[in-house]
Amino acid sequence: MSLLLLSTALAASAEPTLKYQIEPTSTGPDAVTVSVETKALGTFHALPARTLANDTQPALFCVTANGSQSAIEYQTPIQCDHVTWQLPLAAIGQDGFDIAKQIDSYEPTKGWSFVSEFNSLPRFSTHNDEPVPAQVCSPDNQCGWMPDADQPPLFVVWGLKPVDLDINGKTIKVTTDTEQILKTMDDWKPALDSQLNYLISLFPDSTVNQWDIAFFSRDKQVGSVSGAAGSDKILINAILNNGQLEDDEMPMLLKIAAHESMHLLNTTMPLWASESIAEYYANKSLDKTPYDFASPQTQWHDFKQSFPFASTGLLEANNLVSKKQQYQYYPLFYVKGPAFWQAIDQSLMDKGESLDSRLPTLTYNKDGSLSEASIAELTKVIGKKKWDELAKLYL
Ligand SMILES: [Zn+2]
Repeated sequence: MSLLLLSTALAASAEPTLKYQIEPTSTGPDAVTVSVETKALGTFHALPARTLANDTQPALFCVTANGSQSAIEYQTPIQCDHVTWQLPLAAIGQDGFDIAKQIDSYEPTKGWSFVSEFNSLPRFSTHNDEPVPAQVCSPDNQCGWMPDADQPPLFVVWGLKPVDLDINGKTIKVTTDTEQILKTMDDWKPALDSQLNYLISLFPDSTVNQWDIAFFSRDKQVGSVSGAAGSDKILINAILNNGQLEDDEMPMLLKIAAHESMHLLNTTMPLWASESIAEYYANKSLDKTPYDFASPQTQWHDFKQSFPFASTGLLEANNLVSKKQQYQYYPLFYVKGPAFWQAIDQSLMDKGESLDSRLPTLTYNKDGSLSEASIAELTKVIGKKKWDELAKLYL
């Protein structure tokens, strides 16, 4: 009796959490319903979903015990036992899934579906606009926590069977809608294994323990392929040429997988550093595999011949992109940035050290530049002359 009372009291004092259940609709695969039990919240209000390309928000309804529905206004206090809303899913065409747009979609022939948090998953709050922690569960009952609003978005994918990789105590689930990726898994899995092992070893204190890597076909002719890092899931386009996955696409695929994994492992950095370190280490992670790439220095040497903003320093580019949305400078983070880190790494290796062990200790100033402390640590090894030379060339 006393035990029972105690456990009831504990349960009552614990902060409520919500469960969003995504369910198929009876009308077909082009829509899903999301429902949330909100009774335990008492009075609450709905906060708009984070948005990407536009400001669209789902229309929310309160469902009463007798089944009648009434519309819920965002940001307006309400009491309601059960909230529900519908999300339309766009049919994915022959070109395959365009990851960059992150539009809620379904694949009519392969049977999988995708929902992104953007424009689709509002949060609920009882006070101060502080969202109540929530889990989002797919129709096949895979659940993920709604990330903090300053973290990468939640992606939900269902209808694909995952293959588990156990790497250094971390579980990586690989899913794909591309048969040839599954079929050739024995060829590329050892490389991905070794890459992720290496990247995970760089961040011994990372609390990220599990993530999914999902590969989706995309036709080569459309010319746009991408990858995206969500809160617990990486999405990568697999390029098909006339329906065929070509051998020479595999290095790119593995590089993107490593690049996006770096974003999950290493989260607090200014944009230029985040992108350039992810890209440098994605490249470096392939060194010990049969899939290696041209070195960042070589790539930069070729790229700068024709890129119109090649002379812009990385810090100025960081400023132009993050403060003024001048995305034409963004490619510098992927090419000039990795060349910078390779030069730093090489200089450290010339002195018997490496960037690897220093990576988690690098800190940055508010303006995005490396902190004086980090620069001092680097110059101690490579010398001030070398640092000044590289800073002048790249930063
Ligand atoms: Zn990136």
